[in-house]
Amino acid sequence: MAELITTQGTLRSDDLGLILPHEHVFVDLGPIEEENWRDAKAADVIELMGPEVEAAMSAGVTCLVECTPTGVGRRADIDVAVSEATGLPLVLPTGIYREPHIPDWARDASETEIREWMVEELTEGIENTGVRAAWIKLASSDDGVTEIEEKILRAAAAAGAETGALIGSHTTAGRIAHDQLDVIEDVGYDPSRFVWIHTQAEDDPSLHREVAERGAWIEYDAIGGEKSDAYYLDRIESALDAGLGDHVLLSMDRGWYDPSAPGGGEPDPYTYLPETFLPKLSDVVGEDETRRLTHVNPFQAFARRRTR
Ligand SMILES: [Zn+2]
Repeated sequence: MAELITTQGTLRSDDLGLILPHEHVFVDLGPIEEENWRDAKAADVIELMGPEVEAAMSAGVTCLVECTPTGVGRRADIDVAVSEATGLPLVLPTGIYREPHIPDWARDASETEIREWMVEELTEGIENTGVRAAWIKLASSDDGVTEIEEKILRAAAAAGAETGALIGSHTTAGRIAHDQLDVIEDVGYDPSRFVWIHTQAEDDPSLHREVAERGAWIEYDAIGGEKSDAYYLDRIESALDAGLGDHVLLSMDRGWYDPSAPGGGEPDPYTYLPETFLPKLSDVVGEDETRRLTHVNPFQAFARRRTR
């Protein structure tokens, strides 16, 4: 039985409805050396983000995947506090962001040490929160996977193979997603447990199809952003026409409290997808497909069949 590890315990598909697979409650995109995330206070984040999370819940969101790994200010303790204050289960990652946000310890660590750290977070818990990471968030440079990013990717593939955890990577080109699949297959990791985050950034739709055909998830996750709804509707319809509907994830990449911005910045609401986009999608592909893409698929992707 597949189970999703959240800040509010392990949940089954019957417990959940609409899941947002790529958002942020807290992320620090400021200079890595300033480490502004270290000083953030849970109460301040709850004050700014609590109403946004509650608005998402009112719009039908039942669970939100936090996509902030180490290197861009992960604060699992703050995520847990926001979850407790609002009642929304959050799904937290282990993992490490890309250059130049890779922390020194990860730069210096061996592949084995990184794998062991990930496995510990996936099976024991993140820091002292008592909450396990559900999945592994990574990222690649836009020109291709660097040597250190590849070391982290290999470590993640080994940790994922050991625990059944999903890997998602911020990757802006289809060519690089192919390279990443080559690496993880080489380590013995199942490509169907890989998410190509930011698939919409690749202009060539044939690459979206190719990566999904290799078994991976393709994620259109800036809905409500720069690209039009028509762009997303067209890509989603193409995937469904190609019989790849069970490889598609939809989200907004919104939020978030940024401790490098004054007062945490200006949050971007989580309500666009449920309130504006999904009714349009439903008109085009029907309610059942819409439900599959936003309820079934994210659960299938992020849940684990075994918890070790
Ligand atoms: Zn993101």
